[in-house]
Amino acid sequence: MTRRFDGNRLLVATHNAGKLVEIADLLQPFDVAVVGAAAMGLPEPNETGTTFAENARIKAHAAAQATGLPALSDDSGIAIDALNGEPGVYTADWAETGSGRDFVMAMTKVHDLLQAKAAPAPRLAQFCCTLVLAWPDGHDEVFPGVMKGQLVWPMRGDQGHGYDPMFQPQGYDITFGEMDRFEKNRISHRADAFSKLVEGCFA
Ligand code: IMP
Repeated sequence: MTRRFDGNRLLVATHNAGKLVEIADLLQPFDVAVVGAAAMGLPEPNETGTTFAENARIKAHAAAQATGLPALSDDSGIAIDALNGEPGVYTADWAETGSGRDFVMAMTKVHDLLQAKAAPAPRLAQFCCTLVLAWPDGHDEVFPGVMKGQLVWPMRGDQGHGYDPMFQPQGYDITFGEMDRFEKNRISHRADAFSKLVEGCFA
């Protein structure tokens, strides 16, 4: 039995503006005021876990403890078959430059590694997302989601965020970077996890 969310204010424990927009879009049908971690001045906790669920739990609990509000976090990334699941939980780290994140650099690194391995097409990958809803009393609920697809090169499209321009979801001939955000929100790894969250905690 999962715990239901019965408040009217939800903290979204992310400093990633792209994720915040997607989650706010997804929460739109519910009567919930959404506030982001950056707007609350929260620090970004160290993501010391080795799984998406561990990192999402760290972020959600840190935000719920700091604010006294229920907090929803997202830990996500891309797992590439030919790279044995890398970058996985280190997806954001691969874009780190020391002065911000550079996703063109990160996508180029992925492509170069695949070229060096002469990885055959289709270069299969999956976007993974784990959502955690944590309450200030320490309770949490955990919901994983996946979207399978393949990597393409060169990058295509300027919508979305992160690795979207090199990811072509299964059943489509456009990348997430070329996809309207409402369509992406219907099919993405985040949408998959989100539908489980809604069923468990909001429906
Ligand atoms: P974290 O969950 O904050 O550790 O970061 C996950 C990283 O995965 C983000 O920085 C993005 O680069 C990438 N990522 C997660 N979801 C998506 C997505 O929907 N599109 C593109 N990149 C994503």
